[in-house]
Amino acid sequence: MKLDPNKLHFIPLGGCGEIGMNLNVYVYQRSAVIVDCGVMFSAEKDAAVFADIDSLWTVADRVLAILITHAHQDHIGALKDVWPELKCPIYGSRFAIEMVYSALDETDFSRDVPIRVLGQSEAFKLGPFEIERIPLTHSTVEMGAFVIAAAGSTVLHTGDWTFDSDPIVGPLSDLKALEKLGCQNLNAVVGDSTNALESGWTASEGSLRATLLDEIQKSAGRVCVTIFSSNVARIKLLADLAQETGRTFVVLGRSIETVVRAAQSAGYLTDLPPLVSPKQYGYLPPGQVLVVCTGSQGSSNSMLGRLAKDNRNDVYLESGDTVLFSARRVPGCEDDIDTVQALLKSRGIEVVDAQTASIHVSGHPKQDELRMMYSLVKPGCVIPVHGMAKHLDAHANLVKDMGLLAERIENGDVVEIGATCIRIGRVPSGRRLRPLRF
Ligand SMILES: [Zn+2]
Ligand SMILES: [Zn+2]
Repeated sequence: MKLDPNKLHFIPLGGCGEIGMNLNVYVYQRSAVIVDCGVMFSAEKDAAVFADIDSLWTVADRVLAILITHAHQDHIGALKDVWPELKCPIYGSRFAIEMVYSALDETDFSRDVPIRVLGQSEAFKLGPFEIERIPLTHSTVEMGAFVIAAAGSTVLHTGDWTFDSDPIVGPLSDLKALEKLGCQNLNAVVGDSTNALESGWTASEGSLRATLLDEIQKSAGRVCVTIFSSNVARIKLLADLAQETGRTFVVLGRSIETVVRAAQSAGYLTDLPPLVSPKQYGYLPPGQVLVVCTGSQGSSNSMLGRLAKDNRNDVYLESGDTVLFSARRVPGCEDDIDTVQALLKSRGIEVVDAQTASIHVSGHPKQDELRMMYSLVKPGCVIPVHGMAKHLDAHANLVKDMGLLAERIENGDVVEIGATCIRIGRVPSGRRLRPLRF
């Protein structure tokens, strides 16, 4: 389709109708900037799923860069699949880039990727686009929203965010920068819908200090906490609680080890005690061990999946130990989680789940935070993304209830951004698969 060369356009190719595989395109004068390039995991197909970018070339001749908001897999996980078709620079914060490096490490083109490391608050030019990064809190460190301006129009692309007053690691959300944006005639917000169905305000990461400490102190045996591996703040919090309770901090699982290394390269978790080797594990008195491990979604191949199955390895759990599931249940993983929990319980291991205990907080804005965001930035229009249809609908309704305009779109829809935001048509959108096992 032909786009007006004098207008800025937004086209989501992934993430607008599902949670995962985010890929957002901004186009002006046939130059494109992509924000995020993520995957979604399909248990049914045993594959990583990501957006098909073929239709990009019908509206653009070049991609100037991929901007990474943060290092979650639904935002960076498809770089190794998509980059060879784009061969453009990747821009992201120090931590995000460290995670990108480790994701690209398995490829034969990792050394060819031009990288630009962005400061927390940095303004820069990309061809005809003026761009500014604004730090916001999230469940991994160094999340950055992008303000994207071209053709006299300005969009705030939020990424995944909260207004957490105690994020434990990393900067607070830059409310002043958002307020400033509110005085500058912001045309549109393209924003996170994940928690738009939930009333209230997302609890702070720091609020978990007391609840996790309480659960750890209740256990006379080992305490094993399973988390989303990218949650740097949770790793830091658990390391601090290990020290406070006189327990040795043990990190188990390759993906958490990767995150710890990336975080340390970016200047976080630098005071973590040296990692305990599996051989040392058996010599530690059970009541003096705090393990953080992968496997919160019940995967049988994960570290927790293996710990649940048997105790014949160097690292193991026994009757009297406790496992804390400090993560939300990703839809589709419930049965696997229940299976692992049943296995642990059958061996006399106590299980505490975030469904019944306050041992996890979300990294996405609930309704009160969404309202505060829009009061601050005063957008001409809100375009809900990062959600399934029900989340996008709830987000659009909240915006309309505030007396603002919402443009409820789907993957492939083309929105012209100006004094008003109008859906002007569609380009084909689709999915590609990468099998997870060969
Ligand atoms: Zn995220
Ligand atoms: Zn996300």
